[in-house]
Amino acid sequence: MNFQPSLPKLSPYQGFDLQFIGGDWKRGRSERVNTDRDPYTGETLVEIAQASREDLDAAFTSAKKAQGEWEAAPPSARAEVMRKAAQVMEARREEIISWLIRESGSTRIKASLEWDAVHAALLYAAGTVYSLEGRILPTDVPGKEGRVYKRPVGVVGVISPWNWPLQLTARSLAPALALGNAVVVKPASDTPVTGGLLMGKIFEEAGLPPGVLSVVVGSGSEIGDPFVQHAVPRVISFTGSTPVGRGIGRLAMEAKIIKRVDLELGGNSPFVVLDDADLERAVDAAVFGKFLHQGQICMIVNRFIVDEAVCDEFTERLVERVRNLKVGDPNASDTIIGPIINQSQLDGLMKRIKETRAAGVPQLLGGDPQGLVLPPHLFGDVRNDMPIAAEELFGPVAGIIRVRGDEEALRVANDTEYGLSSTVFTGDLDRGVRFAQRMEAGMSHVNDQPVNDLPNNPFGGEKNSGIGRFNGRWGVEAFTTDHWISVQHTPRQYPEDASQIQGPWGGG
Ligand code: NAD
Repeated sequence: MNFQPSLPKLSPYQGFDLQFIGGDWKRGRSERVNTDRDPYTGETLVEIAQASREDLDAAFTSAKKAQGEWEAAPPSARAEVMRKAAQVMEARREEIISWLIRESGSTRIKASLEWDAVHAALLYAAGTVYSLEGRILPTDVPGKEGRVYKRPVGVVGVISPWNWPLQLTARSLAPALALGNAVVVKPASDTPVTGGLLMGKIFEEAGLPPGVLSVVVGSGSEIGDPFVQHAVPRVISFTGSTPVGRGIGRLAMEAKIIKRVDLELGGNSPFVVLDDADLERAVDAAVFGKFLHQGQICMIVNRFIVDEAVCDEFTERLVERVRNLKVGDPNASDTIIGPIINQSQLDGLMKRIKETRAAGVPQLLGGDPQGLVLPPHLFGDVRNDMPIAAEELFGPVAGIIRVRGDEEALRVANDTEYGLSSTVFTGDLDRGVRFAQRMEAGMSHVNDQPVNDLPNNPFGGEKNSGIGRFNGRWGVEAFTTDHWISVQHTPRQYPEDASQIQGPWGGG
């Protein structure tokens, strides 16, 4: 029997119509209201009075006030809060998963994977509390000792997208907090609960001191720019689209007080199949790597690039598999394709589909949307310069590009403005690694699909996919800064004549 778990009533946690500012749950002071909807049923989940600029300022001010004491707490105390947050997640697993299904249209498979990833990120972060390691450096100046103190940056502003809201918030928030920073989160308007408020509840229950974490739900046009340009945050950790990220980078540089930005942006992952690939494995991976979360993932396959020697067989097998994917209710445990997040995203996909058809490209699979659920679409013999290949699709739609030989496959794979994730399938691992080394991407996977994010492996992109890396020691660098403090133990001889200068002086 195929057991379909039912969704619990929303929600034992109360108060998702409020902002989480300085440790209190308060009504937002903007005139605007965010109506948070279930994209599958259209049901209103919660209405949230949005945060005003005053609310934003209160969040950053209380973060700054609370940060010093949090940084000074013993590392073990910070680790304990992270572990408790993981325990809260365990106790509320079904509640959290059902919020992901309802609010972000996640299938039960995707919501469960996301829960696992966030849980792992919290536990990993608990282990990073001892990573604030300084250094003693040799110097050329007699009697001088160089010390490097590693410190949290202070306050981190996190801006996250709607597609993996809990994880993409937690991926910044967990290491930033564990390392002694305070954090203010601005979730996406489509996912205010799973992208932020839920984390507020989890960390409140885990005993995080008031003010160390705030969550402001507000529109980009009202609090977006002031969030980035506020004087308090020292780092803006942004995950989202390339055009918005580019604007945020600019704003951060133009702010009265310049700040660091980490930008995790859009992608256009190539899935390359070489002539000696195991097609069964490749097709298995292709189905997961293209259709998880209805294709709404930055690392998702955007283009299949297949050697002509195996293209017909790969295409035939892929179409057969995809034809049978279960489409519809995201809560069913075996649904692969649930709803698109909102009407405007669906409209964008429909436009792309119509253009591709009009260009005479053979359509291998398709179907009309039901509500916001779009059945999988595959197109054969696509060219890399067509919009369906050149642009990030963010939906259950893809084209297959036929190439001749490894060099053409590589040229086509790299012929994109993006460089996030990428994949190559081959029967020869050395050939695969050599190919992967030449891919212009932050992440390349040999004989796996491109959706991979592990707490201790570097995650990030090249080109228009962003700057910076998450996870592991890269995450420690992202949320800390180095302070050089030199100590002059003996009196120093300052030159009185140019002839006395011998060796490095270190002027600037
Ligand atoms: P988006 O860029 O529209 O929004 C991202 C966030 O930025 C949201 O919270 C939004 O409210 C906020 N925002 C918008 N304008 C702002 C402004 N002026 N100032 C401050 N904040 C502002 O992206 P989206 O549609 O939510 O997400 C989808 C995009 O995110 C895709 O392009 C996808 O590839 C990308 N993404 C990248 C990664 C990665 O790790 N590289 C992961 C997931 C998604």
